[in-house]
Amino acid sequence: MSLAATESLMQFIVKPDVRMVRGRGSYLWDEHGRRYLDFVQGWAVNCLGHSPHVLDAAVRAQLDAVVHVGGAYHNQPSLALAKRLAELSGLPRVFVGGSGAEANEAAVKLARKWGQLHKPGAYEVITALDGFHGRTMAMSSATGKPDFDRACRPSMVGFPKVVFGDLEAATRAIGDRTVAIMVEPVQGEAGAVVPPDGYLPGLRALCDRVGILLIFDEVQTGIARTGPLFAHQADDVRPDIMTLGKGLGGGLPVSAMLAREEVACFELGDHGGTFTGHPLLSAGALAVLAHITTATHTLEREASAHALEKSLRVIAARHGLRLRGRGHLWGLVLPTARAEQVRDRAFALGLLLNAARPDVLRLMPALDVEPALIETMEELLDRALA
Ligand code: PMP
Repeated sequence: MSLAATESLMQFIVKPDVRMVRGRGSYLWDEHGRRYLDFVQGWAVNCLGHSPHVLDAAVRAQLDAVVHVGGAYHNQPSLALAKRLAELSGLPRVFVGGSGAEANEAAVKLARKWGQLHKPGAYEVITALDGFHGRTMAMSSATGKPDFDRACRPSMVGFPKVVFGDLEAATRAIGDRTVAIMVEPVQGEAGAVVPPDGYLPGLRALCDRVGILLIFDEVQTGIARTGPLFAHQADDVRPDIMTLGKGLGGGLPVSAMLAREEVACFELGDHGGTFTGHPLLSAGALAVLAHITTATHTLEREASAHALEKSLRVIAARHGLRLRGRGHLWGLVLPTARAEQVRDRAFALGLLLNAARPDVLRLMPALDVEPALIETMEELLDRALA
């Protein structure tokens, strides 16, 4: 790594010593003109690939109209985005923010406020071990990765952890102070961990029985990453609060926190932010949603997901790996901790992969990645694993 490239911008992970300069669809180019087939897509953000044309017209028109008006005034794109998200999710009250962590902070604040009103003394939000909710102070504590908040200790109180997928453990963890349970429907950063059948409906029934809220963090799984528009729709369960981010803006930093009417108890002054309801980002998100929800895209996406799963099953069988995931979010579990080595080898071959854990490779390509490019991925991954 050259110091010149990194001396001012803070660095938190080791990166290859090149700068990425251009992207289109499933390809990214570096400063030397080298092309990479991208199965990381900005960490599951670019749902329609790099620099999607879908964003062009919407963002340009909004750029011409007005970029930012601030929280003191209404703007049409954010009102329209909230309305569209409410229609699509059945959760009628929406906050529009910038990052996934910001949406999750809003979700936990809302749950605690609901607790103040309906369960005095309750403020704890049970989260899952190995779950991921963001990098802010509170979300670092909510995140279930060991040692994750070491940089900002002491940990924030109020986030007891349980084993993901274990309904009994969740039941046992509930006490007088519990206000909500917050999980990802499929754990993304943990390497595409799908819970056992019945887990999400079981959590719903549990929360209903004891009178606490269910929060789904769909920052990574939302916007069709695992198949349906929202991952929880596969199980036909509805959360009280849901958060979205990543894919929502197709590359633009926009997120949302959505809530049931009865739960949306924020009062004036309880929440806000300079960039909330940003018109330019909202216009982009509206364009992404408009495209993702067309019948054509849905068919294309399903065909792509099918081809991806088939291809990964071949790879997994050939190399003796375990495969887990859904839709366009997959983890390949290696028998030894060599995910970074395989990732680096794939990089040298022109394929971008993510090492989610020491022994797990994560693949999260564009939702419309063509079958021909999936074949190319298979060839390159095959060589990287050899
Ligand atoms: N929740 C989940 C499930 C995530 O995967 C992430 C990001 N990996 C976040 C929250 C945090 O989102 P952001 O980085 O945009 O704050």
